[in-house]
Amino acid sequence: MLDQIKGLHHVTSMASDAPLNNDFFTHKLGLRRVKKTVNFDAPDVYHLYYADEFGTPGSVMTYFPFPSIGKGRHGVGEVGTTVFSVPEDTLGYWEKRLADKGVAAISRSEAFGEKRLAFAGPDGEGFALVEDKSDSRAPWVKGGVPADEAIRGFHSASLRLKDAGATEELLKFMGYEEVDTFGNTRRLAIKGGNGADVIDIETLPGAPFAGLGAGSVHHIAFAVENRAKQLEVRKALMDTGHQVTPVIDRDYFWAIYFRTPGGVLFEVATNEPGFDRDEDTAHLGEALKLPAQHAHLRPYLEQHLQPLDGGRS
Ligand code: ZN
Repeated sequence: MLDQIKGLHHVTSMASDAPLNNDFFTHKLGLRRVKKTVNFDAPDVYHLYYADEFGTPGSVMTYFPFPSIGKGRHGVGEVGTTVFSVPEDTLGYWEKRLADKGVAAISRSEAFGEKRLAFAGPDGEGFALVEDKSDSRAPWVKGGVPADEAIRGFHSASLRLKDAGATEELLKFMGYEEVDTFGNTRRLAIKGGNGADVIDIETLPGAPFAGLGAGSVHHIAFAVENRAKQLEVRKALMDTGHQVTPVIDRDYFWAIYFRTPGGVLFEVATNEPGFDRDEDTAHLGEALKLPAQHAHLRPYLEQHLQPLDGGRS
């Protein structure tokens, strides 16, 4: 069993509208936009990153907004719900805040002994807040949500699978241990992880497969400290028969990707070098940042990318 992985690093999803997406995560959820860059493989669309003050791994929600993309179809073989952690006794605040801001599909429930508030993202994606009194991570406090209520980072992500078996085995190989069961959902966690260290596996044998589109999670990334640990994980995965990409430089982290048996795309990303490698912490996410290979596109992109701000609610 591996011990290099410490929990989630980031979750990356597809959106249909960049300004609406930006408004949802910064003004409704009160996260900080920590990077405004472009999709390295399709530089005519944004890659937007929302997180805590520093873009700490385990707090980073990222989006590719494709203006002409169709809606995703939810089903199995995808990430179901992306869950953020908030302090104890704050779901009342959040229920009112999200309702006041017109957020859809708000509902309260309880699972695994935790109070939960589910809601939909701007393209119908599944989100929830869970009260976690043991979470000591510092929140971003300049996003309009008071420090006592603000989001601490990810709590967990749930995978919806037709058959959990092989993916559960893989997660155990990656360092997760089964810690609980609730209905058709098994909970796995990393001991001593980064706070975003829970994965729930929901088994839905009769459900149709998901179709990628706006509101779909594209992949989830797991955090390792550095490139040496990433290479150890890559070798171990390859030695057990997984097809893993070479290491790819994503400017703010190094990434490797592999498709899991249940259909979900996994990434393992390094905590180094981080989001302050090309701009000061005080101004993260303000300027359009381009990777070196796309720097020559700047005049075109500055003309053609839709301005993000102005959709304030
Ligand atoms: Zn990624």
